[in-house]
Amino acid sequence: MKPEILMMGPMHPVCMTALEDAYTIHRYWEADNKTAFLAENGPGIRAVATNGHLGCPEAIITALPKLEIISSYGVGYDAIPVKFAIEHGARITNTPNVLNDAVAEMALGLMLALCRRIPQADAFMREGKWAKGGYPLTGELTDRKVGILGLGRIGKEIAKRCEAFKMTVVYHGRRAQEGVEWQYYGDLEEMARDVDWLVVIAPGSAETKGIVSRKVLEALGPDGAIVNVARGALIDEAAMAELLASGGLGGAALDVFEEEPLPDVTPFLLDNVVLSPHQGSATYKTRAAMGQLVVDNLAAHFAGKPLISEVTE
Ligand code: NDP
Repeated sequence: MKPEILMMGPMHPVCMTALEDAYTIHRYWEADNKTAFLAENGPGIRAVATNGHLGCPEAIITALPKLEIISSYGVGYDAIPVKFAIEHGARITNTPNVLNDAVAEMALGLMLALCRRIPQADAFMREGKWAKGGYPLTGELTDRKVGILGLGRIGKEIAKRCEAFKMTVVYHGRRAQEGVEWQYYGDLEEMARDVDWLVVIAPGSAETKGIVSRKVLEALGPDGAIVNVARGALIDEAAMAELLASGGLGGAALDVFEEEPLPDVTPFLLDNVVLSPHQGSATYKTRAAMGQLVVDNLAAHFAGKPLISEVTE
C-alpha cells in the first residue's frame, strides 16, 4: 500500500507527478470542510508536503497521529513549528543550497535596479520621453560598501557577487565566522552606520523579528539603501515606509513582505523603492531542483535512508 501524504497546497509539477506516482495524496487546499477532512484522513497520514509559506500549523500536526515527516519546498522554515513537530515525532526537511545562486542573483538584480533606476529608465523609454530630454544621472554600486545581515549559504553568494561589482563587503551575524576575511560587525546598528547598502538575508525567527529596527534604518540613513530578500518580518516595515517617504532612508528594494501574498504596498509606491513579489528562488531551474529535493527527501525517509537535508534545530 502506498504511504498517505497530506499536501498543503499545489506544488511544482516535479513534485506533483513524482508524489502522485509514489503516494496516496490528500489535497488539503481543496477540502471545503478542513476539520472534517482532517478527522477523516488524518489518522492514516504519514507525511506532509508543504512549502515555506504554507508551513504546517500545530493544529494540523496534532491531527496527524502517525506523522513521520514534513518535507518543505523552500529553505526558510519559519512557518513550521519545528520544536512542536519534532516533539510530535516528525522529522523536517527543507531545500537549502539549490536556491543559493538564484536568490543571490535576485539580490544583485534588485540592487542594480534601485541604484541605476532601471524600472524608471524602462518607463521613460516606453513613454517616449527620450526625445524630450536626457535621462537623469544615477548612483552606481562600484566602490560602495555593502553590509550583509546573515552571511550564510545565500549571504555568501551575494557577498561574492558584490565583490565582483567592486564593492567592499562586511557582515553581521550572531558571531564572527572562522575563515571569513570580510570584516565582522557584532553590532548591526554600527554596521548600518558604516555601509551604503544593507542586504538582509538572515532567517525569519522569533530572534530576528524586527532586527532591522527604526534605529538601524536611521543609522543606514538618507544615503543608504536596504535590500530585503529574507523575510518581511525582519524589518520594521512601518518605520521603513515612513523613513523612505521623509528622506530619512535613501532607498529600498523589497522582494519580501510581512503580509504575503497580500501586502499593503501603498506606503512603498515611492520613486526610491523597487518592489518584487517574492521572486528570489523563482527560476525554472531552481524551482525544479527544489521540487526534486522535496521528492528525494520523502523517498529517502520511506526507504529508511538518511535524509538529504534535515532541519535539526
Ligand atoms: P543560512 O542558515 O545558511 O544562513 C543564515 C545566516 O543568518 C547565518 O549566517 C546566520 O549566522 C545568520 N543568522 C541567523 N540568526 C541570526 C540572528 N538572530 N541575527 C543575526 N544573524 C543571524 O540560511 P540561507 O542562506 O540558506 O537562507 C537565509 C534565508 O533566506 C532563509 O531562511 C529564507 O527566509 C530566505 N530566503 C528567501 C528567498 C526569497 O525568495 N526571497 C528564497 C530563499 C531563502 P549566525 O549563525 O552566525 O548568526
